[in-house]
Amino acid sequence: MELHSGQSVRLWTDLWHPLGRLIEVVGEIGTQKLGIARTALVCDVRNEGHWRFRRFRDRHMKDLIQAIENNRLEEDQLGQEVVLWRRNDTEFGKGFTTSETWQKIRIHSPAVPWSKVVWFPLGVPRFAFITWLAIRDRLSTGDCMRTWGHVQGCLFCGEPNESRDHLFFACPYTYTLWIEVIGTLLGRPPDPDWERTLVHLTTHGFDRLVYILLRLTFQTTIYMIWSERNDRKHLKKPRQVTQLAKLIGETVRNRISSVKYSEKPRLRGLMQLWFSTHT
Ligand SMILES: [Zn+2]
Repeated sequence: MELHSGQSVRLWTDLWHPLGRLIEVVGEIGTQKLGIARTALVCDVRNEGHWRFRRFRDRHMKDLIQAIENNRLEEDQLGQEVVLWRRNDTEFGKGFTTSETWQKIRIHSPAVPWSKVVWFPLGVPRFAFITWLAIRDRLSTGDCMRTWGHVQGCLFCGEPNESRDHLFFACPYTYTLWIEVIGTLLGRPPDPDWERTLVHLTTHGFDRLVYILLRLTFQTTIYMIWSERNDRKHLKKPRQVTQLAKLIGETVRNRISSVKYSEKPRLRGLMQLWFSTHT
């Protein structure tokens, strides 16, 4: 807290002095020694810019009083208290931002090589999330469910072992779909192998706009395959490859047509690129 009138700051338990919470500096006994209640506000012991403390010999308490008196306070002693937020280990500032706070409290790890395949500015969060689960092989596919005693075959082709690698895109149904929706964006024929596809997406040097469309299409396809798979599991009417491909194409085009190109002129040309890679 940045101290002004002291009418809303507790002397002992709020964080306003550079030493930290004073109750933690001197302990509960300090409240008795100074004769100031644990719940006292700063304004109870401070009047017109002066602190009012008992004087006595205890070295520890004398040091504390001195530290309080030496701490320079804001000139405006009548104003409202201001809440300050931690910027780093020693500095505090007035604005609160969730992103900065998140950076402070999260556990930092080195970026994984595929992070750009999942997280990018034009991405759709729910598609990115399912893609993230797929990359980490945490979708509840048949082979994951097997440990729970539940047997699940592929709902598209009947292959007895449904796995992440089968769904993306070793299955004849999903591979046909992948070929149809990806067009020529990969710069090479689509590969049914999951690992090779992911390595290509992670390491190949794509043109900037191509890379945006490619990731958007990749994620939309994964999401749509997973939701079609779940729909079939819940006995909804199955969609044909061409129906799902049409839906994926529309979803990608809807996303890119929602971009405000006046604000992001560098992204102009996405729609033309879509049509030139999907003839
Ligand atoms: Zn299959």
